[in-house]
Amino acid sequence: MTQRIYYTEPARRSFDAVVTAIVQHDGAPAVVLDRTAFYPTSGGQPFDTGRLGSTEVLNTIDEGERVLHVVRTPLIAGETVHGEIDWTRRFDHMQQHTGQHVLSAAFDRVLDNRTMSFHMGGESSTIDLAKEVSTADVERCVDEANRVVWEDRPVTIRFASPDEAARLPLRKEPVREGPLRLIEISDFDLSACGGTHVARTGEIGLIAVTATEKFRGGTRLTFVCGGRALRALRGYRDAVAGSVRSLSVLPHELPAAVEKIQAEGKQARKAIARLQSELAVHEAARLISVSPIVGGVHRAAHVADGWDAAGLKAIASSMTAQPGVAAALVGITSPIALVVARSSDVSLDANAVLQQLLKRFGGRGGGKPELAQGAGLVGDPQEIAAAARELLS
Ligand SMILES: [Zn+2]
Repeated sequence: MTQRIYYTEPARRSFDAVVTAIVQHDGAPAVVLDRTAFYPTSGGQPFDTGRLGSTEVLNTIDEGERVLHVVRTPLIAGETVHGEIDWTRRFDHMQQHTGQHVLSAAFDRVLDNRTMSFHMGGESSTIDLAKEVSTADVERCVDEANRVVWEDRPVTIRFASPDEAARLPLRKEPVREGPLRLIEISDFDLSACGGTHVARTGEIGLIAVTATEKFRGGTRLTFVCGGRALRALRGYRDAVAGSVRSLSVLPHELPAAVEKIQAEGKQARKAIARLQSELAVHEAARLISVSPIVGGVHRAAHVADGWDAAGLKAIASSMTAQPGVAAALVGITSPIALVVARSSDVSLDANAVLQQLLKRFGGRGGGKPELAQGAGLVGDPQEIAAAARELLS
């Protein structure tokens, strides 16, 4: 059984221990020690990394009775090794985890809204609250949590039997059997927890909620504490600074400025669409004027330069709105688009013509006898137009 130093001494960064066993974990060497300060993943808090003797600890795993240290290179059973925790990583976890206790307790005390689960990620952490919560209430609880942080209250560890624990006002009910480890934030919170925490709330620095969303009938809060809060602030600052520079507005004017740009973009797209359809009418007239008349029908097979599929369709529709037109328009953008259409008084199956061209030049498409569209043709647009001209005759 591994003695867990971090239970009683969460601030210990280094220790000496004896290697009691060498095992394999998913094909990697792992070490069991008689005692350890390395924290294994559990209760929402990720594992510690660091150094153990001559090697690196890559992962720490809780197996109940023992703690596994997955190492880069194996050690020797029976040897005494010196362990060093990666303190930057661990202290970050302690800030986030203790911050979570304070934040959860604030929601519990102010709104009677219980925390159902907690997860610590690489960049931010989440808690899932049992009930939905308004933005104003989130801010009230965040204010209350930070008040407790800035009062720099002691965070202490004590142990209790299940009977003793049953008589205590625990915010979080224990999930383990046997003696319980309780974390107490002076006059604010008492929870059963096996994780590592800072010694005073002031070490949390700051608690900031960065996002809220509805989740399983309650609310999921994303939050950052301490060093992560500073990093998040820097990230927001850089994003805002870049945006205000390119838009030449003040930070608080950004949302309105972005809305204005979006509205202008929508207007511009509408105007372009209108101009394109007007231009299509002129292009249709021009193409008809240069097409040969065979048997009283304008046989208009052309390459239409500079038009997308929607433009081709607009031109073809405009051409065939007049009587006596059979049209095949080939785009030049790759993959090549094609529209075949005819006026209502012309007896031609536009879809049959399209299918023959697709058979020869590839691509897909379909339509009706009066108008059919294809895309993905491969070949020289002039050659496709020439083949279409044959089929229109
Ligand atoms: Zn905890």
